[in-house]
Amino acid sequence: MMKNSQNLIHWNKGDEIALRYITRDGHPGMTWPAIVIIDNADLVALYIPKGTIYKQFQRVKLENSNAVGYQRILKDNEWRRDVLRLMYPGQFFSIWVFWEYNNDNREHTSYYVNMEEPFRRSEVGFDTNDHTLDIVVKPDLSWHWKDLDELSDRVDAGVYPVDFADFVRSEADKIIVSIEKRLPPFNEKWDKWQPPENYKIPVLRSDWESAPVTLWEDRHWAYGDVARYT
Ligand SMILES: [Mg+2]
Repeated sequence: MMKNSQNLIHWNKGDEIALRYITRDGHPGMTWPAIVIIDNADLVALYIPKGTIYKQFQRVKLENSNAVGYQRILKDNEWRRDVLRLMYPGQFFSIWVFWEYNNDNREHTSYYVNMEEPFRRSEVGFDTNDHTLDIVVKPDLSWHWKDLDELSDRVDAGVYPVDFADFVRSEADKIIVSIEKRLPPFNEKWDKWQPPENYKIPVLRSDWESAPVTLWEDRHWAYGDVARYT
């Protein structure tokens, strides 16, 4: 790990970091340990191997004599696929390159465009948060939306202002142009990428939750009055 002139941390290939989704009320939510593959000015590539244990929200039933309710708590979960997560500074998406194992055969099965906050660098890795809408891209670069309905449900529920949801959709539309024109990164042969030899499954560092969070500087522009909610 090194700090640059702006005192921002940069990582070396092979470093293990924490990739955190920061909830809108400023707490680490869903979080993965990941291996740094590339960290330069244009691209951050993180590898999360199949079998990695990560933190995911689960709804847990709370019962007492008077009421039944639910609470969202972070629990350990096992990551089921190999993913290389390509992240571009200042962009509203990351691109996940997925492989699945068929017996011992590792096979590229899809790309996944995940709409999200532009990432920030933290003391322990990288912070962002999910923006619901995704695009699933098959190896032949045919694509389909995922969770377009959920995006509008979130507008109806008051979670996202309508202007912000429209913005997320318009950013996603730009990526569809890249997919259909076979522009980078969809022509860069990431599907052929191989994990480093002798890598170990990364383990979440113990300070993933206590290390200061970095908040997205445009969160009030994006989320408006609802910025205080998760
Ligand atoms: Mg998503």
